[in-house]
Amino acid sequence: MTATSRTIPDDVQRRCANLRAEIERHSRLYYVEAAPEISDFEFDALLRELQDLEKAHPGLITPDSPTQRVGGAALTEFETVRHEVPMLSIDNTYNADELRAFDERVRRGLEAGDAPRYVAELKMDGVAISLRYERGAYVRAATRGDGEQGDNVTENVRTIRSLPMRLGGNPPDVLEVRGEVYMRHQELQRLNQLREEAGEPPLANPRNTTAGTLKLLDPRQVAQRKIDIVFYDVAPIEGVELTSHWETLAKLRSCGLPTSSHSVQCPTIDDVLRVCNEWESRRATLDFEIDGMVIKVDSAAQRRRLGATSKSPRWVIAYKFPAQVARTLLRSITVQVGKTGTLTPVAELEPVHLAGTVVKRATLHNFEELARKDVREGDTVEIQKAGEIIPQVLRHVPELRPGKAKEFPLPSACTECGGEVRKDPEGVYLRCLNVACPAQIKGRLEHWRGAWRRTRRRCTT
Ligand SMILES: [Zn+2]
Repeated sequence: MTATSRTIPDDVQRRCANLRAEIERHSRLYYVEAAPEISDFEFDALLRELQDLEKAHPGLITPDSPTQRVGGAALTEFETVRHEVPMLSIDNTYNADELRAFDERVRRGLEAGDAPRYVAELKMDGVAISLRYERGAYVRAATRGDGEQGDNVTENVRTIRSLPMRLGGNPPDVLEVRGEVYMRHQELQRLNQLREEAGEPPLANPRNTTAGTLKLLDPRQVAQRKIDIVFYDVAPIEGVELTSHWETLAKLRSCGLPTSSHSVQCPTIDDVLRVCNEWESRRATLDFEIDGMVIKVDSAAQRRRLGATSKSPRWVIAYKFPAQVARTLLRSITVQVGKTGTLTPVAELEPVHLAGTVVKRATLHNFEELARKDVREGDTVEIQKAGEIIPQVLRHVPELRPGKAKEFPLPSACTECGGEVRKDPEGVYLRCLNVACPAQIKGRLEHWRGAWRRTRRRCTT
C-alpha cells in the first residue's frame, strides 16, 4: 500500500473498487454480451462518480481504472515490443480449388481416418494486435509489426471502450491474446463529416484510418475516434490445455473479451465453402469491412501434428474475396465546389452494379490525382469500393480509349462563380478565392443548419 492510499478513508476505497467492478461489468454486458442492464445515462453517472472520487483522492487512480480510457499523456515515439510468441502470417487462397487443395494437404498431414473439422471466421480488414493481461489486468498492447516485433500501443488501445481493463471469469496469471482492431463504417462516416465541415480531405477507408489512429502519439486524440476490437486467438498458456479453437473462443468470451458472433464450426470443407460463398455475397450487409474468411483446423492435437513452415502455420488459411471492382464508361468529368472552395473532379459514369449498389459517380479526389491517372472523358474506367463510402476511380483501360479522348483541362476559374482559383501551398488542391462564391455560401449554410440540427438532437434526447 502506498503512503497516499493509507490516508484515504476505507469507505472511499471500497466505493471506488465497487464502482470499477460495476463499470467493468456493465461495459461487458454492453459490448460483449449486447445485453445492457442500465441506460447510457446511468452508466455515465457511475463513471462520473468514480472520476470525482479519483479527483478528490488522486492516490486512488490505477492504470486499469475505467476513467483512464480517455487517454494519458502524449508520447514522442512508440517503444518497440518483441513478441514472445511470433505472430506468424497466414497463407492466402483465392478460389474453391485452392481451398480444396488446402484441405487435402491437411488430410495428408494427419493420420488416416483422423478427419479435420474446421472453424470459419470473418477476416476483418483491420490491424492485427497482441495484448497482454497479468493477473487479470490489462498491461500491454503491441501491433503485429513484422511479426517478430511491433509498436507498443498500450495507451491508444486502452481507449477502446469494448476492451476490458480487468478480465472476468477465471483468467490465468498471464494471458496473451490476439485479435484485430477495426473501425466501423458508421464511425468513418462520422469522422469524414467532421473533416468535411473543417474543410479537410476525407479519410480513404476504415483500415488505413484504424492504422493511422493507432499511430497517433496523443491518446486523447485516439479517444475521440471510436475504434473496435475483436479477439480470435490466445498464445499458449502455462498449465492450461485448450483442446480446440472453439474452446479457445469460449475461453476468451468467458474472460469478457469480445469475439465475433459470426464464427462457425464446419464439419467438412464443403461446409467451409458454403460459408465462404455466403459471406462473399453478404459482406455488404456488415457495418465493417471484411476482405475474406479465415479457415482454421479446430482440434489442438491436429494443429500440433500439422505444425508450421518457417512462414506460417499449416493448419490455417485465408480465403480472400475477389476485389470489388467494376468496369464502366466515364461519360463526363464534372467539377464540384465544396464549401471551403475546394474544386473536386468527379467522374460521371454509365450506371454500374458494384458491391450491392448502383454506382453513377465516383471520386477522382483532386486534379493532381486526375493528371497522375490520366483519366479522360470517354475512357472505360475501373472503379473500386474497398471500405470507402464513395467509390473511387482506380485506372482507365488504355486499350479501350477512344482516339479523340482529350486530357481534362485544369480549371482556370471556379466552375460555380467564375472566380479566381489557386493551388494550395502543397499544390494538391485547387481553391476558389471568391468569399462570395455561391457554392461556398450554400455549403456554409448547410454546415450551420446541420450543426444546429445536431445540437438540437443532443438536447432533446
Ligand atoms: Zn467560386
